[in-house]
Amino acid sequence: MSATISLKIALALKMNSLIDAQTAPKRVALHTLGCRLNFSETGSIASGFEQRGYEVVPFGERADVVFINTCTVTDGADSSCRNLIRKAHTSSPEGKIVVAGCYAQMDAPRIAKMQGVDLVLGTTEKYKVFDYLGEADSDQIHIDKTAHFYGAATSTAEGHTRAFLKIQDGCNYVCSFCIIPQARGRSRAISVEAALDEAKKVLDQGFKEIVLTGVNIGEYERSSGERLPDLVAKLVELDGLERLRLSSVEPNTLSDELLDVFASTNKFMPHFHIPMQSGNNEILKQMRRKYDVDFYRKTIEKIMTRFPDAGIGADIIVGFPGEGDEQFMDTYNLAKELALTHFHVFPFSKRKNTTAAKMEDHIQHGVKKERVRSLIALGEAKLSIFAEDQIGSVANVLYERRGKSGAWEGYTPNYVRVFTQSPLDLKNKIVKTQIVSSQNGKTVGELL
Ligand code: SF4
Repeated sequence: MSATISLKIALALKMNSLIDAQTAPKRVALHTLGCRLNFSETGSIASGFEQRGYEVVPFGERADVVFINTCTVTDGADSSCRNLIRKAHTSSPEGKIVVAGCYAQMDAPRIAKMQGVDLVLGTTEKYKVFDYLGEADSDQIHIDKTAHFYGAATSTAEGHTRAFLKIQDGCNYVCSFCIIPQARGRSRAISVEAALDEAKKVLDQGFKEIVLTGVNIGEYERSSGERLPDLVAKLVELDGLERLRLSSVEPNTLSDELLDVFASTNKFMPHFHIPMQSGNNEILKQMRRKYDVDFYRKTIEKIMTRFPDAGIGADIIVGFPGEGDEQFMDTYNLAKELALTHFHVFPFSKRKNTTAAKMEDHIQHGVKKERVRSLIALGEAKLSIFAEDQIGSVANVLYERRGKSGAWEGYTPNYVRVFTQSPLDLKNKIVKTQIVSSQNGKTVGELL
């Protein structure tokens, strides 16, 4: 081949790649840290990118825009956010990096100084990411301290077959360890009508399951002036909705009436998440929680009366200031005694500007670590027993994805993760499945 022909081919290839670069859709990679609410919000923002012609690519791939929705619930969450920003800059050195959400709201100047960060958007400003990306000379930091509500329904971009529907945001409580009210502001909520409209949109997209989310859903009524039982009763009437779940609910807000509405429909999935935080009354008081041990116990019992097969998750904080061995054992024993199945254990983390950070008697790191380890071990043992109890039963499993092992993975109504081999395409299908075994935390099903 002559040198001239080689040069022409090289030029043609370069032109093609330039044309491809100009015509190919822009790529956006999104990553979420933290709670279900954050996942719901990222889903909504991902939909916004898709509507504007972006292709959503996995985080870690080269992208034109990298959007990181952050969390600030612990020191660990903050440092995970900073690691993700570094990772984003490595994978997309030319891309615009947007850091948004709770950690962005609380620590914007530090984040803005990190290499590669183009935009820092607070908890409400994150919804305006499209405007800021379009402004050539936008400021780097946008933090709004007033509390607006932005409703959010997820898209398929996060890979879930569940749609997370945000009905409430912010919190008016003053739990002494919690930074969230400072990051997300006062409680506010979407109207019943708006929530139904959002729900219809995700059902039209083909979702069969909706998870109602918020920071403190139990505050729905006080924040919207409308009633959560009414919202639930109307939601389950919607065509296309087959399963409804509720994310975390404070024990003091889980009313009998709400439980009765859940019990009156077979669309509600018997799966709850009721933060416990501590099993010791003095620590609960210091935490400024709005219940005591007895109330928490009764809450779990009233769930079990209506839903004997319920899966029940609980957040537990260990190593709160002043938590001695005795107080910790109260927590351990309560967690062991009650019908809790999914533990979410966190070591107490000192958050600046919270009451608990200023308390005395902080617990040594090593002690916290050991307490976390023992509670996690208890939680794993309880979850195993719960899953083993289901062997032989038949459950309607909503399958999400085919995993690396080739098995389809999905959840039973009471939130046991099931692995099922099948040549069929089960994505987003609800299929009757027999639970055949459960060992080492892996529950296996067979299609009926
Ligand atoms: S209820 Fe307490 S822990 Fe939950 S967000 Fe509100 S202040 Fe934080």
